Amino acid sequence: MERDNFEIRDQDGAGRIGELTVPRAGVTVETPALLPVVNPHMQTVEPSRLESEFGADILITNSYILYKSEDFRDEALEVGLHELLDFDGAIMTDSGSFQLAEYGEITVTTEEILQFQHDIGSDIGTPVDIPTPPDVDREQAEEELATTQERLEFAETVDVGDMLVNAPVQGSTYPDLREEAGRHAEDTSLDVFPVGAVVPLMNEYRYGDMVDVVAGAKRGLGADAPVHLFGAGHPMMFALAVAMGCDLFDSAAYALYARDGRYLTVRGTEQLDDLDYFPCSCPVCANHTPAEIRDEGERERERLLAEHNLHVTFEEIRTIKQAIRTGNLFELVENRARAHPAMLDGYRALGDHAAQLERTDPASKGAFFYLSGESAARPEVVRHHQRLSRLNPEGKVLLTEGNPSSRYDESWNVVPPFGPFPRALSETYPLTAEIPDRMDAAGYESAARGVARLVDENPETDFTLAHEGWSESALALVPDAVRTVDLTTV
Ligand SMILES: [Zn+2]
Repeated sequence: MERDNFEIRDQDGAGRIGELTVPRAGVTVETPALLPVVNPHMQTVEPSRLESEFGADILITNSYILYKSEDFRDEALEVGLHELLDFDGAIMTDSGSFQLAEYGEITVTTEEILQFQHDIGSDIGTPVDIPTPPDVDREQAEEELATTQERLEFAETVDVGDMLVNAPVQGSTYPDLREEAGRHAEDTSLDVFPVGAVVPLMNEYRYGDMVDVVAGAKRGLGADAPVHLFGAGHPMMFALAVAMGCDLFDSAAYALYARDGRYLTVRGTEQLDDLDYFPCSCPVCANHTPAEIRDEGERERERLLAEHNLHVTFEEIRTIKQAIRTGNLFELVENRARAHPAMLDGYRALGDHAAQLERTDPASKGAFFYLSGESAARPEVVRHHQRLSRLNPEGKVLLTEGNPSSRYDESWNVVPPFGPFPRALSETYPLTAEIPDRMDAAGYESAARGVARLVDENPETDFTLAHEGWSESALALVPDAVRTVDLTTV
């Protein structure tokens, strides 16, 4: 389906900077964007300050809480959400699906809650989908997905004016169901695509499974659909999720963590009680020591921690956008992956989907930095290997990490992790990569796979590989027909 409310401006892997037009709010939201979750009953940081001090141009609140609230329901209907919350940006509303998942039932239909969201002035509304948890049996996942799909189709028929409507993508931990759900959602006339029910995966640090679930949903949705990773509020995993192609994040974490004395960083979560120093220069951390904040009253401590948590969260979104602009999002993801073994799992799972990411990865970016064995699984390496199967050197060909030789018809360069390439390409991206002198086995093995790819496509050509002390594991991947010379021993 052609989408006119989302435009992609810059791309790196499947990560992108985009513009989401929200007609009812009269604003365009630049993505990746963070939506702070605002609880009307408990405003840790006032929405007007989210806008003026933190730069939030979109937030999310729960319409089901308002619908059920004796304090707010009538006021919301009378003055509208923007005045109720004192916020001029775009407001997305959730429908009560979360409450459905937590408490097993809710007392509202999709039609009632969509109408209510429209009537209180929401800019992006949500039908009542079924958030199927991870690891349920397949039958349950299929049945609940069918119900969600019926509701999305019904939501298309509700007249909500120019309010955008979310089309949540469910399917539990079955990537093929997520893909089917994505395809179905994409075929509706709905507007924004939350990947739902991933919170349990993140709470259990199952970042590898999260990546597989998102990759499934993205295959179904196609490249130009705006994707919201629903309930993902920890900044440590934003870069990974953006590299997968997620555009919107919502954070309740900034306030919930603050309530428990927890301090967010891009490398994980710290307890305020354990900190002697703040590793941050936001206004809160620049003006207080951890001890000073511990000595504050409960409400003030919570507010200050929530403000730090918001600062670090918005900072990470800006860091990611700049990385996309510069073309080093993968270096950022790789850096973040080093903070926790579970994040490393997520990054390694991302490597399993490199061919999928390659389709939207720009042909040329800033310098490629090889930072670990995982760099060998990047989309640029996949693309180079694909390209090798279209190249046809003839006669006697030297593939060398050393100097060319006139005794051959052609001399090609070999650079790990890419493998062989004609010398004329040596100044083109990504073959200009910065690589360490002490290359690891994964890099050599990837180069050897490149050699194998070229040799398989050209069985008539006579290849010699001159390498600088490659590991046995790499040489084992080089086809037997290739003569090998170790340059470190001649
Ligand atoms: Zn701070």
